[in-house]
Amino acid sequence: MTAKPYIYAQRSKRELEEIAEVILTRFRNRRSGLIVDVEAISEDCGLTILPRRGGLENHVHAYCARDPHFIVIPEADCSYSPVYRGGVAEELCHIILEFELFENKDLPPGARGHELNVGEHRKIETDAKFLSAAILFPKGDFTAQFNIHTKQLTPQHPERAKLLREVLKCLERDFDAYFLRAAHRLVDVGLISEGDLNEHVFNKLVM
Ligand SMILES: [Zn+2]
Repeated sequence: MTAKPYIYAQRSKRELEEIAEVILTRFRNRRSGLIVDVEAISEDCGLTILPRRGGLENHVHAYCARDPHFIVIPEADCSYSPVYRGGVAEELCHIILEFELFENKDLPPGARGHELNVGEHRKIETDAKFLSAAILFPKGDFTAQFNIHTKQLTPQHPERAKLLREVLKCLERDFDAYFLRAAHRLVDVGLISEGDLNEHVFNKLVM
């Protein structure tokens, strides 16, 4: 008998914001100022982070092992905390969503990662990216910091692309999480438009 395929029910943005609220409330003692300690939350959820050598960063930035108690991260990413924390947060969110940890506290005993087909993987990936940004950049604080920095920096940087880049640098520092994730969060929260993001942030990146 073949195993039943795992079907992931994709969540709306509103549901994902609500899940982020549940997680942020449950682990409120894991926040220090603006920074959400996703490493500690992972530990509280019974997960272990394994840095791995051997050029893993050339292929992926992080992944959940088949045994869902482990998050594997390239050692090369571990030395820059905004990148490292982003990877940890995203993988943590894969586990949260896949095992509905916003309803249950821990992984079920003997939990095994589901075999995801391409379609299911794409759905959960989109949701994990959204949810991890919602956890790393909690809506209220993030909006407040965006407004403060924008107000303060606009006189020096009247040019939109330059202004957004400077604001993103501040947000990366505030939340200790990578500016490109912050950039997506600006769109998710409705602080800038998708067009604004593409025109003034992505098109201006020197790769
Ligand atoms: Zn992912």
